[in-house]
Amino acid sequence: MPALIEKKEKLGSQKRFGTRYGRKNRLKVARIEKEQRATHPCPYCKYKKVRRIALGIWGCKKCSSRFTGKAYTPNIQANKNE
Ligand SMILES: [Zn+2]
Repeated sequence: MPALIEKKEKLGSQKRFGTRYGRKNRLKVARIEKEQRATHPCPYCKYKKVRRIALGIWGCKKCSSRFTGKAYTPNIQANKNE
């Protein structure tokens, strides 16, 4: 019986909206916020310790470096080309 009610994607941060704003919009927000809150690999020390400090500002907890990136993702690939 539980196999029939299989969830494709977990609710995550979109839970706080309840039934409001439509399914697609809630899902978009949840996907972005998941990326925003996750730890990312550091472009300097390669450790997966980079977290978002503020909008566009990312910091590494390992080597304590701070650098700019995109608003919700560090976008390390673009930083390497600079
Ligand atoms: Zn680092």
